Amino acid sequence: MKRVKRAFRYRFCPTDAQAAELSRTFGCVRKVYNMALDARTEAWTRQERVDYNQTSTMLTAWKRTEELAYLGEVSSVPLQQALRHLQVAFTNFFGKRSRYPRFKSRKKSRRSAEYTTSGFRFREGKLTLAKMAEPLDIVWSRPLPEGAKPSTVTVSQDAAGRWFVSMLCDDMITPAPPTRGAVAIDLGITSLVTLSTGEKITNPRHERKDRARLAKAQRELSRKAKGDGANRAKARRKVARVHARIADRRRDFLHKLTTRLVRENQTVVIEDLTVGNMVKNHTLARAVTDAAWTGMRTMLEYKSAWYGRELVVVDRWFPSSKLCGVCGTIRAKLPLAVRTWTCDCGTVHDRDVNAAKNILAAGLAVSVCGAGVRPQREPSRTGQSAMKQKPPRREP
Ligand SMILES: [Zn+2]
Repeated sequence: MKRVKRAFRYRFCPTDAQAAELSRTFGCVRKVYNMALDARTEAWTRQERVDYNQTSTMLTAWKRTEELAYLGEVSSVPLQQALRHLQVAFTNFFGKRSRYPRFKSRKKSRRSAEYTTSGFRFREGKLTLAKMAEPLDIVWSRPLPEGAKPSTVTVSQDAAGRWFVSMLCDDMITPAPPTRGAVAIDLGITSLVTLSTGEKITNPRHERKDRARLAKAQRELSRKAKGDGANRAKARRKVARVHARIADRRRDFLHKLTTRLVRENQTVVIEDLTVGNMVKNHTLARAVTDAAWTGMRTMLEYKSAWYGRELVVVDRWFPSSKLCGVCGTIRAKLPLAVRTWTCDCGTVHDRDVNAAKNILAAGLAVSVCGAGVRPQREPSRTGQSAMKQKPPRREP
């Protein structure tokens, strides 16, 4: 058995007072985050850096001003956490792992507040947040582990108006039996993923129907006149509800898939699709796939750590689809519409399966020999590093 941190997420029904308190808190979290970002950006243009401690001092000063005194009315814990999140965002930016942090928008950003132990009480299975008299009315869809005590609690509300509480707890995991298997995953649009074993996993069966429903709801929303407030709000909620259902189903599906892949294999190889590398493509299918991919990578990362497996990340510019896995020839062009192709050496390739096999070969080379091994580079992309390795997060 192995001790790991695990998040348990539940829905809850707030009282009117709790809903009001949380809405106020979400607003303050956003305000503090944006003001701190503003201060750090302003310093950045002067080639100076503002760190977490300095923003924390600023927060104290803001609360003392008349126009921002309301920040002192909500729990200070989520506000401090917002500053910590901003610190992480900057650390990722300086480490070239993500873009420059962006402002939280009232409409588009996730409404959430994070509480550490000083901001909540957990007793006899009841969770009470700071500034609240009553515990939250949580729908316990599954039990917390025996004797679990949350170390962090995150409360959020999605666009469909549903309330969630996520509790980070210590949990025990049974290690997966040792295996020598290795698998690579190629991300697709027609199939959600293709495995190097040749297996193609399509989008969950509800997805097509859900998308049709979403398109219909969006058409209805765009038909509502701008002035017609009530009907427009109703149409917008409808769109949000369909979105929420799609997201829920996809999360369930990805959990099952990633658990299976990690349990069955010692090494899992994926392509790097970090935000910085992402190609701008605004089609709906692409946006949906990118979101799924980000979620899937996160799951693969922590599940590999849980089960003592290795996750290898191969650079995206590795020419996985155009490289013949048999003879090593790289094709100059391979339009996206071409699903199968024949190499000069006579091998007939399924585009996605070939790509997955190449990703596997590249990943295993990295895994065995370290990052010094480079596969052939795509001629048009010389100068780009062809591969990079994310060190596997293995615990002793
Ligand atoms: Zn060939």
